[in-house]
Amino acid sequence: MKKIDRETVQRILDVADIVDVVSDFVSLKRRGAGYLGLCPFHNERTPSFSVSKSKNICKCFSCGKGGSPVNFIMEHEQMTYQEALRYLAAKYNIEIKEHEMTDEERERETERASLLAVNEFALRHFETNLHDTDDGRNIGMTYLQQRGVSEAMIKRFRLGYALERSTALYDEAMRKGYNEKYLFDTGLCIRTDTGRVYDRFKGRVIFPVFSVSGKVIAFGGRTLKKDLAKYVNSPESAIYTKSNELYGLYQAKQAIVKHNKCILVEGYLDVISMHQSGIENVVASSGTSLTDGQIRLIHRFTDNVTVIYDGDAAGIKASLRGIDMLLREGLNIKVLLLPDGDDPDSFAQSHTSTQVEEYISANEVDFIQFKTGILLQGLENDPIARARAIGDIVQSISVIPDAVTANIYIKECSRRLDIDERVVALEVEKRRKAQAEKDAITARQERARKSLGDVQNATEQLVKGDAKGDDEADVEPFSAVEAVAVASGAETSKEETGYRRFMYRYESTLVKYMLRYGLLTLAEMVDENGNAVTISVADYIRSELERDDMEIADPVLGSIYRAVLSLQSDGWPAAEQDFRERLLQERDASIEAGEAEIRATASDLSDIERREKELRASVDEKYMRDMREYTMIYPERVICSSPDDAVRKMGMELVAERHVLSKVFTKYTHVITDDERLPDIVPRAVLEYKDAMLEWQIQQLNREIKEAFGVNNNEKHCMELMSRLGELHALRRDMATYLGERIILPR
Ligand code: ATP
Ligand code: MN
Repeated sequence: MKKIDRETVQRILDVADIVDVVSDFVSLKRRGAGYLGLCPFHNERTPSFSVSKSKNICKCFSCGKGGSPVNFIMEHEQMTYQEALRYLAAKYNIEIKEHEMTDEERERETERASLLAVNEFALRHFETNLHDTDDGRNIGMTYLQQRGVSEAMIKRFRLGYALERSTALYDEAMRKGYNEKYLFDTGLCIRTDTGRVYDRFKGRVIFPVFSVSGKVIAFGGRTLKKDLAKYVNSPESAIYTKSNELYGLYQAKQAIVKHNKCILVEGYLDVISMHQSGIENVVASSGTSLTDGQIRLIHRFTDNVTVIYDGDAAGIKASLRGIDMLLREGLNIKVLLLPDGDDPDSFAQSHTSTQVEEYISANEVDFIQFKTGILLQGLENDPIARARAIGDIVQSISVIPDAVTANIYIKECSRRLDIDERVVALEVEKRRKAQAEKDAITARQERARKSLGDVQNATEQLVKGDAKGDDEADVEPFSAVEAVAVASGAETSKEETGYRRFMYRYESTLVKYMLRYGLLTLAEMVDENGNAVTISVADYIRSELERDDMEIADPVLGSIYRAVLSLQSDGWPAAEQDFRERLLQERDASIEAGEAEIRATASDLSDIERREKELRASVDEKYMRDMREYTMIYPERVICSSPDDAVRKMGMELVAERHVLSKVFTKYTHVITDDERLPDIVPRAVLEYKDAMLEWQIQQLNREIKEAFGVNNNEKHCMELMSRLGELHALRRDMATYLGERIILPR
């Protein structure tokens, strides 16, 4: 690889025009002195990506990304500086003068570039096979001709053929000096467990998949035989994320912008046949259901989508799923059903381009008409079917972000289903509110998680700070804590031993809660900045102890206490995330299984709706329950397998009676366990602990007073002690009322 020389770089920078460069990826509208479009770097529904022709820069008001034409291409196409320059040079037909790259520069050549280079090589190889080999012409080309694909389309979509021989591509790549690593990384070749190598696409007709900017990032290969999987596709790689690509977009993007509309079909050949018949604003999701990433990709070029589905049941079901996703993204969606038995490919092949165009404009309908048609087929007079149709359509309207658009559909719905417009509007509003509430909760949880993260970081800092004086960085947490405890307790006085013994009961209750429920959420509250903060049981107990400068006196209990605290930042976050991911997978799987079961056995549509709701509720409940259970059990698992014998033994004792202790029967005979009334029992335990300490101090004071009277007869000192005693008693009284009343959570 060579490096572009300085002069060429300057020429490229001089010539590249920001509006021109950005327009290849974003549909821009003139706004005042500049241009505005949807930001390609983040998900948005109202445009905040602004382009200034005079300054030759672009910038997103919202996410801040942008810059010069080179910056834009680097960011957008994930290219290096050199790659972006080459891209622009090609765009503006600037001849590149270059000098040899140094070894170091060569090393810096990214993995991405290598993967793309191998794909580019394979693309040419497949094309050459198709056009210039006997097998290619006899097998591949014959097939494409049979399918009615024109020579022009074969060139435009750069179709190819992979020879039947297992290592045809591999051998050629080796001969040309390509690193085999990249053949495997792109998935072009496969190495079996036994070490045998073969070409993934052998014997197939090749459909290359291009990125928006025209780089070949993947391939699809269609078999010509009966008994093989019809298509084989490239696996995901550093250059290919399936859910973010659309087949045909590179060839369609200009037509999409020109017609301000994107037609969505399912298959490679659907796209090609439509192009062939002159309709070029067509892309395919390639057999998978539409993803948010793909929808966003479309939205960069247009607001209008027409989805074409096969008229069969599977096609219709898929369409219903996709509609709300498109609406939510703020797209205007129309749906077109083809005559039964036709797909876009066969339809385009059997009609002239004018006929296809006319058919589309005459038959595409908005989603309300489409849903009404599907849901009310022959059931116009059935009140239940009507109610369900209304509910379904209202739900779709309620996800539309733009109020003006939503209003148009409210009118349309009212007209089509013959219901009062205000009723529809009200119903839409209700659902929108419900959704907004749900979103707000999610956002709050998100924020709370963040603040908790900050607390954890602070704790981590603290722990690190503590350890600083210690030269051994890798001391096990327990022994480190232990060492501190032992060091401070080395010269244990008689008084201290007495205090320890006295406090043990209360401390062990506190630490028991710490161990059993430490990671559970005790309360959610709002901090001074208005952010939601989640306070765990462990956080609460710590802040209460710190407030009064209290420390757990018993060394073993103290170790456990500190260990649970440090778990919050060290160990638990990762464990929690792992477990959550596993649960979410399980949850999705049970929903899927449950839905399949319901579909198979349901008696009618309202039955489906009701049962699906129940299913979700019960699955969600199980998720919450399992998550909570795991959060409870985690600290106990860690502590009870501590390398420190004393800690482990004490830990086991503290959790031993978890399931029999403190059950309270309510009048509904529902058994309430401790973990269900944490806001009650935890603050109470803290107060009792503090009260015990006061009690101890009072006892000590009484002894001193007795001594002062009897031995020294020091009246002044006695008075001092007495007044101190009065204060302590007053404090205790306050505490007692506090304890007796409903427990108030910290501010
Ligand atoms: P053809 O008309 O030759 O059958 P098509 O492109 O119209 O091809 P469809 O059967 O409509 O294909 O399937 C739609 C898309 O789904 C295909 O283009 C392909 O991307 C994907 N697909 C279909 N079958 C498979 C398969 N067995 N494995 C992986 N992907 C598949
Ligand atoms: Mn087909």
